[in-house]
Amino acid sequence: EQQSNGSGETKHFRIPEIKFTKLFINGEFVDAIKGRTFDTVDPRTGEVTAIIAEGDMEDVDVAVQAARTAFDHGQWPRMSGFQRGKIMHKFADLIEQNTEELAALDCIDAGKLFMRGKLADIPGGARLLRYYAGAADKIHGEVLKSTRSLHAYTLREPIGVVGHIIPWNFPTSMFFMKVAPALAAGCTMIVKPAEQTPLSALFYAHLAKQAGVPDGVLNVVTGFGNTAGAAISKHMDIDMVSFTGSTEVGRLIMQAAALSNLKTVSLELGGKSPLIIFDDADVDKAAELALNGVVYNKGEVCVSSSRVYVQDGIYDEFEKKLVEKAKAWKLGDPFDPSTLQGPQVDKRQFEKILSYIDIGMKEGATLLTGGKPWGSKGYYVEPTVFVDVKEDMQIVRDEIFGPVMSLMKFKTIDEAIERANNSKYGLAAGIVTKDLNVANRVSRSIRAGIIWVNCYFEFDIDFPYGGYKMSGFGRDLGLNALHKSRDSLTRDKTKWAFDE
Ligand code: NAD
Repeated sequence: EQQSNGSGETKHFRIPEIKFTKLFINGEFVDAIKGRTFDTVDPRTGEVTAIIAEGDMEDVDVAVQAARTAFDHGQWPRMSGFQRGKIMHKFADLIEQNTEELAALDCIDAGKLFMRGKLADIPGGARLLRYYAGAADKIHGEVLKSTRSLHAYTLREPIGVVGHIIPWNFPTSMFFMKVAPALAAGCTMIVKPAEQTPLSALFYAHLAKQAGVPDGVLNVVTGFGNTAGAAISKHMDIDMVSFTGSTEVGRLIMQAAALSNLKTVSLELGGKSPLIIFDDADVDKAAELALNGVVYNKGEVCVSSSRVYVQDGIYDEFEKKLVEKAKAWKLGDPFDPSTLQGPQVDKRQFEKILSYIDIGMKEGATLLTGGKPWGSKGYYVEPTVFVDVKEDMQIVRDEIFGPVMSLMKFKTIDEAIERANNSKYGLAAGIVTKDLNVANRVSRSIRAGIIWVNCYFEFDIDFPYGGYKMSGFGRDLGLNALHKSRDSLTRDKTKWAFDE
């Protein structure tokens, strides 16, 4: 059972005092200009954990002015990449010294598993800083070939002031996927964390200052999407918006960029990713992979395997194993090390998931397992599997962003490819088979940015990450985010000279 006894204790962990609740602009924690605030809520209990400054358009303006000055006149873009890298390593050291506290903040903000935060997300944030710190002094242009008597070369320059608008499902990983390469490039920035999860972002702003990141380089404006977020996407003095979130909001951001200053836009959007399991798979392992693919981080994952296609030869056995595993899946307090699934991020997300479960039943799908809230308080949803689903049902088309799977049967490879591609999204896909020819053919035929073969959710900092179709464009991670793709944080300037 979940347990917060009201004094900041749980059975498993002493919740730290919350130290940072204001906007971080130009190196200082400040109140919002209008003096407004909003509550952040613990999804384990529904209780308010902190009152946070609510930034709006005028706060974004001040933050942009600070970032603009830091970019146009400050040291950060002008210091050597090596020096920026040293400061980023220091920033990473400070994160590593505060791992438990940071993991606890993400846990009470987003309902994320504490142990996973402690062992993966928080050290992963430090690791992202170190990876890009190592690349900061290796960004360079190239000498160009010319058909005339011209010498020419490109300079790879930081893109300028960047607005990072991020979601709540991985508060730390998203923060550093965006911030680390931007720092390395020599950009200055405004981060708008999701309103559900402001706590760790503000803590990171404090650590950045301690590490020596100059004032104005990294600003954090907490607040809502349609106010602070919209102010970033339409701002005339921001050079790029890097966004992760829903397809609907991605569309608004691109529109605002077009109608303002044509800023560069990078969009990492939603998904409805298929996992295709062929007859030659190890059924037990495949069922494990499929379940984890949809319940990991409570299904609040853009690459969640929410459509599972199983070939008819093993379907019945697969279904049986999947149900057994789903029923054994342990929900509970995310601070409890034995818990596998904590609460959904907030009441709105919890209700949205339950309403999709309702829609599924009304559309005529059958609940194989789950389908209900769990526990007596907080926003928990049981791992849920629907069968008897048809491709045109809303539960198969829409991103639910919760622990809800549509399980379907297929006969032939061609049918699997066609059905997997039958989605407006194209973020990720999984294939389970021992047949190399099948794996190759299916992975080439699926229009998605990430294809996992005999695995799922495997990531590496080096691997570019992003979508096809309405899952967006632009690539996070790897050197692509820094300088190897069109929507990266640096761009080429070409210089010409006559050879006389
Ligand atoms: P959301 O798009 O509403 O919110 C994401 C961020 O955008 C938040 O910071 C929010 O405040 C801000 N925002 C909202 N409206 C805005 C506006 N009009 N202008 C500017 N900013 C605005 O998403 P959500 O529903 O809170 O989060 C879940 C969604 O995010 C899911 O659909 C999921 O697929 C997607 N997501 C995608 C990825 C990815 O890598 N592709 C990762 C995580 C989440």
